[in-house]
Order: sequence, then C-alpha cells, then structure tokens
Amino acid sequence: KMLLEVKDLRANVDGKEILKGINLSIGRGEIHAIMGPNGSGKSTLCNTIMGNPSYKVEGGSILFEGEDIISMKVDERAKRGIFLSFQYPEEIDGITLENFLRTALNTVTGKNQSILGFKKLLKEKMQLLEMRDEYAERYLNVGFSGGEKKKAEILQMAVLNPKLVMLDEIDSGLDIDALRIVAESIKKVKTEDMSILIVTHYNRILDYLEPDFVHVLMDGRIVKSGDSSLAKELEETGYEALRAEELI
Ligand code: ADP
Ligand code: MG
Ligand code: MG
Repeated sequence: KMLLEVKDLRANVDGKEILKGINLSIGRGEIHAIMGPNGSGKSTLCNTIMGNPSYKVEGGSILFEGEDIISMKVDERAKRGIFLSFQYPEEIDGITLENFLRTALNTVTGKNQSILGFKKLLKEKMQLLEMRDEYAERYLNVGFSGGEKKKAEILQMAVLNPKLVMLDEIDSGLDIDALRIVAESIKKVKTEDMSILIVTHYNRILDYLEPDFVHVLMDGRIVKSGDSSLAKELEETGYEALRAEELI
C-alpha cells in the first residue's frame, strides 16, 4: 500500500494552470527526488500536497494512506504526518527555536507536551544533529547562516517525525561542506517508515541521499522517471535534451 498517491493532479496558481496532470506514488520509507527547470511546478506540487490555500486543485486526487486529503486544511494534513520544509526559512524575532518547535509539536499531536518532557526530546534530537544547546534559546532563524537555517528545518522534521517529508531545494545556497552536513543530517533523521520527496536542481545532494526514484517535472508534468542514474544522466545532458527527446 502506497503512502502517497497523486493521480492526474491539476492545480492553478492565480488562475493559471501550473500542474497539468501529475501522477506520483510514494511508498513507505522511499526517497523520491523531483528535478526540473525553474518554473516547472516543483514548489507548486509540494505546496498543493501540503494544502497551501494559494494553490487551487482543479482535478485529480491526492490520497494519503488511502484517504483523500484534498479537502483538508494544512493543519489537518500536518496532523496526518505531512511536512514541508521551506526553501527560504523565515526569521521570526521574539520566538525561540525551542518555543517554536514545542508549539509545532503540540499542534501536530494535539497534545500539550510538558516543558521538561519537550526539553528532553529536543536535547536528544539536537545531539543527534550535533547542534549546540544554545540554539534552542535563539530566536528562530535570526542571524542563522544558510546552513543553520536548513539544519533548523531538519531539527523540526526530527521533532515532528512526519510520515512524508517534502524538502524543497533544501540544498540551495549551501556551500559543499554545509551541503554535506545537511544531507547527513537528513539521513540521521530519516527512519525506515519515513518517506522523503526532495526537490533539487543538483545531483550532489542525491549522491548522499541515494533516492529510490528520480522524476523530471517539466511544464507541469512528470516527463520521465527512473532510478538515481537518471539524475546523473540529467547532469550531463540537461533538461532541454529531454524536452527534445520527448518531442520525438
Ligand atoms: P519551480 O518550483 O519548479 O521553480 P514553481 O512551482 O515555483 O516552480 O512555479 C511554477 C509557476 O507558477 C511559475 O510560473 C510561477 O511564477 C508560478 N507561481 C508559483 N507560485 C506562485 C505564487 N504563489 N503566486 C503566483 N505565481 C506563482
Ligand atoms: Mg525555483
Ligand atoms: Mg521551487
């Protein structure tokens, strides 16, 4: 049984059709990568799966654990175990990372974690990710480097322990050392039954994460799927070669 089944999904942004019939199935524990040129609809796909209200579904279905989630709001989807990390994490002055994460966990679980219980959980996850304790007390992302912001997103993923994690260009703007640290952090947090959908332009992060499937999204459609060798092939040929191939 698939964790996520997207069938013939069509979605609009600002009245413009962006997703033009997406089919994508993700099994439990699998890692899927989505690659494709800028503006092809990768972020739109993630946001539509998450239920961001700016993205209007015009047709098709999204099944999560067999249940149609299209009419559910973002928070209901989050409660079911769907998580989206942002390409440009926001800086929020006045809210500490710890308070932000505790509130997020309370919202997702619908339970009020004790302060002490949460501190213990957070400490454990921060140790796993080799983050210094002091980060917990810092305002969310304020003054964080690019790599630290991405690591804070991964810490959130570790705390919430979602079933489906969508990482939208988590590798953008990182130097090669920060990229390796971020990739290794994702691997540490990933459990056997956590599935990952990673959007990226670059092969490098996929060398670390070794996706089970790679899909190419162009102009609102998945035009090609394959194993991790497809990412390497694309690095050599580029997307335009694929476009030409599709036309033949
Ligand atoms: P990708 O992530 O593949 O670069 P996007 O999904 O961000 O592509 O964008 C696909 C298309 O949808 C683009 O033409 C973009 O301008 C448009 N778009 C995406 N999000 C918005 C938005 N919030 N408001 C207006 N247009 C958007
Ligand atoms: Mg983009
Ligand atoms: Mg994008």
